Amino acid sequence: MLYERALERLKSKGLNLDINSFLRTFNRISSIGWVESYGSTRLALTNEHIMARRELLKELENIGAKVLFDEAGNIIAEVGSGSRAIAIGSHLDSVPGGGRFDGVFGIIAGLEILRAIVKSSLRLKHKLMLVDFNNEEGSRWNPPLLGSALSVGVYTRDFVYSRLDSNGVTFGEALERSGFKGSAENNLSMNPPRFYIEPHIEQGPELYREGYDIGIPQGIVGLRVLELTFKGRQDHASSHISLRRDPVVGLSKAVLRLREYALKNQDKLRITVGYISVDPGKFNVVPALSKITVDIRSYDSQVIDEATKYTIKVAENIGGEENLSVDYKELWTIPRIVFDPEVTSIIEESCRDLGFKCKRMWSWAGHDAQNMSRITKTAMIFVPSVEGISHSKDEYTREEDLVKGLILLAEVVLRLDEI
Ligand SMILES: [Zn+2]
Repeated sequence: MLYERALERLKSKGLNLDINSFLRTFNRISSIGWVESYGSTRLALTNEHIMARRELLKELENIGAKVLFDEAGNIIAEVGSGSRAIAIGSHLDSVPGGGRFDGVFGIIAGLEILRAIVKSSLRLKHKLMLVDFNNEEGSRWNPPLLGSALSVGVYTRDFVYSRLDSNGVTFGEALERSGFKGSAENNLSMNPPRFYIEPHIEQGPELYREGYDIGIPQGIVGLRVLELTFKGRQDHASSHISLRRDPVVGLSKAVLRLREYALKNQDKLRITVGYISVDPGKFNVVPALSKITVDIRSYDSQVIDEATKYTIKVAENIGGEENLSVDYKELWTIPRIVFDPEVTSIIEESCRDLGFKCKRMWSWAGHDAQNMSRITKTAMIFVPSVEGISHSKDEYTREEDLVKGLILLAEVVLRLDEI
């Protein structure tokens, strides 16, 4: 179904969305840092990210928005009056070789809502806020979601400013140089918006494969990251295979067994081995040691606990089979987040009235919404990702799905304003 009727419906309420301008602005800003055979690279506070943010600031200036920066270098733009805000947010940074849609869709959709409200004769009770979060992806400074975490008070300023990138540059130094450093008074925890909505691509295949227009996440799944270490015996590549204590064989067995377990439980669980290291890592040396990380996700904390136990058991069994010593460490656990039921219901009702087919689901990826849910009523809106591909140059969302997400966002903002 196309979206003309939904657009007319908004027009009759006094809100005129400019679809062409939205798509033009989206295409322009999302192509910054794009390399045809590689994808988008706008790591936080690098030239490409700064360029994209400057373009956003120009657009905000054109619509007369008031722009503030907080202590984390988040861009906070406001239009309208009213003591409390309805906030829309996302991010302009990307992973290396990422897609054009992750993050940028939410920012440009929010920008178009602010623009449409300014141009309309509507007088909303709330002011509207757009937040462009800094270092969402965590590709330059770990952990991810650093900007929202500092702004809502999850991390201290000292912790965030002292994060190091791979070149030894701290977040604090890069922020100072970027020109986006603002003050703690502007942190979102100081004057929280009344609502926060984050529109985003799904980054999974469910909506696309099942033919839905919109996804409504009930929340964000919980996450635990373990580190497994296999210790063997360093040896020459000439050594007899049967005499070796080879930690690479240990990690390989672990990867395959965990994949099998995750496949059996894939409706409620994801397991990822995303980091592997081998020491000393020379072609003619049987290594002394190998390390992997195991990322375990589920909306059910019991499932995470069971998968943790299974991972440790698997590692110990492999240690016995391969004569390796095994160590494990929990790096971190983030409990699941449940979004505001009132706001998610409003999103669902809005979909129904606009004629958009929607599905309640979980977000398997982390988003700034999880930090925002600590200080305000929060929800997200998902649009389909073709084949679910994301963090890749092949990430793609059809134009009509972007536009449906934008229209829904406008409808939701108007309804929240009436509460
Ligand atoms: Zn994102």
